[in-house]
Amino acid sequence: MQIVRNITDMEGIASELKKSGKTIGFVPTMGYLHEGHTSLIDQCKKEADYVVVSIFVNPLQFGPNEDFDRYPRDEQHDTAVAQEHGVDYLFLPDVHDMYPQKTNIELTVKRRTDVLCGKNRPGHFDGVATVLVKLFHITRADYAYFGLKDAQQVAVVQGMVDDFNFPLSIIPVPTVRESSGLAKSSRNVYLSKSERNQAAHIFKALQQAQHFIIDGNKNPVMIIEEVTKFIKQNTDGSIEYVELLSYPELERVDEINQQIIIAVAVHFEGARLIDNIILDKNGNIPEAYF
Ligand code: AMP
Repeated sequence: MQIVRNITDMEGIASELKKSGKTIGFVPTMGYLHEGHTSLIDQCKKEADYVVVSIFVNPLQFGPNEDFDRYPRDEQHDTAVAQEHGVDYLFLPDVHDMYPQKTNIELTVKRRTDVLCGKNRPGHFDGVATVLVKLFHITRADYAYFGLKDAQQVAVVQGMVDDFNFPLSIIPVPTVRESSGLAKSSRNVYLSKSERNQAAHIFKALQQAQHFIIDGNKNPVMIIEEVTKFIKQNTDGSIEYVELLSYPELERVDEINQQIIIAVAVHFEGARLIDNIILDKNGNIPEAYF
């Protein structure tokens, strides 16, 4: 595995790989790698000739009161994990190299962002879009892998790729969970033991909602109420949102007769956690998402 810290070097490597007719799979991350990340890497390894993983804690996607400074970082651990999973190039760009000056153009994501995480994280998806435009160009990826744990991110990035004709495919990868059902996240390290136990109820609430839909309940309001009630009864967390929307458009629905997402954000003292489930109108997980 080659570690690449310089943008020009990464561009040179990508250009050589393209000349040789090989495909490049790309997994963008913010590091502190766990099994969620490695499932993206493993899938990428199966489908692309070369695997490029980036680790970059992107300041543009953090709000002023968010955890940019204390976001967990461990380069040594991440290098070992990447090596173990057969990554070919580990790209670790420097923040000054990525954002040397004020840009001439600022990206603003107009759709799919006024709901879920976008509502309370203004500018977050603009920051995500900006860094990905740069990373997609630098790595010249043919395939880019994204976790469905961040399903709104998948929807926004797919929208961007469609709108601007990026010559790459976005590959969504199912959420990896602990045996308790808790979605793996770099931020789980902030949770106390008791919060970790409570947090497992977030996925249980989503599964319960799935069963309501399988049983024929088509009413979003009732399902949102039940999910909210279950989380309140079983955790001390404070709920930021419970929403049921069409997916990937992320629009409100009056009745469940299309593919939907039920998504939740809960604040614990230690961390803000998100989770979701994507279902077809009968409550089954669509084939593209498992
Ligand atoms: P992050 O480092 O948190 O920016 O995540 C990098 C990529 O890993 C994103 O596409 C995430 O959606 C994905 N990811 C993070 N956690 C999980 C998980 N538990 N299961 C699947 N993908 C994940």
